[in-house]
Amino acid sequence: MRPRLLLVCLTGLTLLLSGCGTGSAEPNPTPVDAPPSAALPDPPAPPSPTATPKPKLRPLPAKLPAGLVRTTGGKKVALTFDDGPDPAWTPKVLDLLKAAKVKATFCVVGTQVRKHPELVRRIAREGHQLCNHSWNHDLNLARRPVAEIRADLTRTDREIRRAVKDAKVPYYRQPGGRWTAEVVKVAKQLGMRSLHWTVDPQDWARPTAATIQKRVQRAARPGSVVLLHDGGGNRAATLAACPKVIAALKRDHGVTRLR
Ligand SMILES: [Zn+2]
Repeated sequence: MRPRLLLVCLTGLTLLLSGCGTGSAEPNPTPVDAPPSAALPDPPAPPSPTATPKPKLRPLPAKLPAGLVRTTGGKKVALTFDDGPDPAWTPKVLDLLKAAKVKATFCVVGTQVRKHPELVRRIAREGHQLCNHSWNHDLNLARRPVAEIRADLTRTDREIRRAVKDAKVPYYRQPGGRWTAEVVKVAKQLGMRSLHWTVDPQDWARPTAATIQKRVQRAARPGSVVLLHDGGGNRAATLAACPKVIAALKRDHGVTRLR
């Protein structure tokens, strides 16, 4: 590549990377070989096959990265509730857990924490575990630049601690379970273990309560981590399934809180 063309390409790349190149999709009438004007800076180069356009989402790995917590480490199973806190469902789930005398882990979303800090306080007060589930449930968060991941997780942690002073948040759970090695590493740097699951009855897709119950009972093994939802939509079926699910898990395995 000729030096001037290379320079123009690099200038364009710098503009793109610095977020100033949003106009580069517009047709650029100036040929790249035109002599630079003395008065004006070079226009950004049109996309070149040799230039990297902008930071892309990194690809998801073909298999889950190392370092995920997927079991309780013992025989008892653990319940996890994601996407809350939600004023319609979280109090009811907490009531059920209290009646059944079991503790669970709540993977909370930062924007929901900001809206309903009193529910986070209740979760903590009643002895349940807290887990960071990102600021706004960004399914692609783990694929973004590391600095963005760190900012998101830190902001969510801060919001949880605004609700519950000195709250312990020992876990992070990536929305959609769409993990990358990078998000696992950032979570670790921030003092959180990355919490996946063993049993997913897909209650978010709103099957019937009987189906949720059947799926959990069939899939549960000693040490399973069960994924359920107390937020993100109508959780009536999850709520209806919970008493039987919890009773069966207590009977078959015992239920423990993640440490
Ligand atoms: Zn979620």
